[in-house]
Amino acid sequence: MTDFSASRARFDLPAGITYLDGNSLGPLPGAAVERARRTIADEWGPMLITGWNKAQWMDLPARLGDRIGRLIGAPAGSTVVGDTLSIKVYQAVASAVELRPGRKIVLSDSGNFPSDLYMADGLLKSLKQGHELKIVDPEAVADHINEDVAAVMLTQVDYRTGRLHDMKTITAKAHASGAMMIWDLAHTAGALPIDLTDCNADIAVGCTYKYLNGGPGAPGFIHVRPDLIDQVRPALSGWLGHEAPFSFDLDYRPGEGISRMRVGTPPVIQMAVLDAALDEFDGIAMEAIRARSIELCEQFIAEVESGCKDVELASPRDPHARGSQVSFRFREGYAAMQALIARGIIGDFRAPDIMRFGFCPLYNTPDEVSHAAAALCEIIATGEWDRPEFKTRKAVT
Ligand SMILES: *Cc1c(COP(=O)(O)O)cnc(C)c1O
Repeated sequence: MTDFSASRARFDLPAGITYLDGNSLGPLPGAAVERARRTIADEWGPMLITGWNKAQWMDLPARLGDRIGRLIGAPAGSTVVGDTLSIKVYQAVASAVELRPGRKIVLSDSGNFPSDLYMADGLLKSLKQGHELKIVDPEAVADHINEDVAAVMLTQVDYRTGRLHDMKTITAKAHASGAMMIWDLAHTAGALPIDLTDCNADIAVGCTYKYLNGGPGAPGFIHVRPDLIDQVRPALSGWLGHEAPFSFDLDYRPGEGISRMRVGTPPVIQMAVLDAALDEFDGIAMEAIRARSIELCEQFIAEVESGCKDVELASPRDPHARGSQVSFRFREGYAAMQALIARGIIGDFRAPDIMRFGFCPLYNTPDEVSHAAAALCEIIATGEWDRPEFKTRKAVT
C-alpha cells in the first residue's frame, strides 16, 4: 500500500486551505524551496557561467525529459523539457503536417484547450498551403478520421469536464488512415498511468505545472516516437536544437534524436524546481495514484449529489472515462466557487457554468473531500453564493 500521508507531508500546503486545483497549478513540494535556494546560492552565485558545465545545467532538459518519460511510458531519450506547452504544440503540429504532404486537415475536438487550437490554426495560416484546422465534437473524432487528415491532435482529458479519450483506439484509427497522432497530456501526466509506447503515439506534449507540481511557469515537454525522430525537421530551429550549438555554424543541422526539439536557453532555476518536484513520484506507482484518485472522485460525487440537488454532474459518471477531476454545473457556478474560496476551499471555474475540482492523491485526503462537498452543499442550500463580492469576475478564474 502506498503511504499517501507521507507524501502529503512533503508538500507545503497553507494551513486551513483545502486545495482542489492541482490540475491547474500544483502546490509547492517542500524540497523545492531548498533546491531553488541551492541552485541560486550554490550554483549560479559562485559558479557564474561555469555552472553550465560544472552544475550540468545544459543536461537538465534531457534529464528531466527522461524522468517524465518514465511517468508516461516513453523510452529514455525520447522526451525533452523546455519552453511552454503552447510552443511544444506548435512544434508538434509543424512536424506532423510536414510528414504528411498532400493532406490538408488537422483534426481536433471542441474539448481541446483553446491554446492548442489557436497555435495549430496560427501555424496552418502561416504555412499558406491550404491546410485547415477542423474542430468536431469529442465523440465524433473517430468518424472524421480519413485520408485527408494529416494529423489528429487531441488532449487526453477535457479540461472542462474531465472526459478521457481512449488513446489506444484513436491512435490506431489515425494510423489506419495514415494520419499522424499528437496527444496533449497536460491534464494526465502525473495524474494517471499513460503508456505512450503501448499506444504507439507519434508525438506527445504536456505541461509540468499541473499534476507534476513544477511551479508557475514551469516548462512543457515533448516526446517523439524514437523511430520517427530522425525524420522530424524542427520548425523552431533554435541554436540549442542544433547538432553542434557551440560550433556556431551559419547553417542549421538538427541535433541528434529528441535534442532537436530544444529551442533556446533552458530556464535553469525553474527546471531545478521541477527536478525536486519530480522526486515526489519516486517509488509511487502511477497505478496506485490512479486507484486512489478514483476513490476520492467517487466519494466527492456521491457526497455532493446526496447533499445537493441543484448541481449537475458535468463529468462522465464512469470513473474510467474520467481524468482526475470532477466538474459540476451550477448556473451561478462562478459565485459559488468564489464563496468556496472565501472558505479556504480552492477549486476553479470554467465558463460558462462549470465548477471544477481536481483531486491529487499525493496530497488530497478523504477528509478534505468531505469538507469540500459539505461546504459546497451548504453554500448552495443557504444561498451564501448570492453576494455582490462573489460575482465580480477576476482576471484569472
Ligand atoms: C494548461 C494547458 C495549456 C497551457 O499552455 P501554456 O503554454 O503552458 O500556457 C495548453 N494546452 C492544454 C491542453 C492545457 O491543459
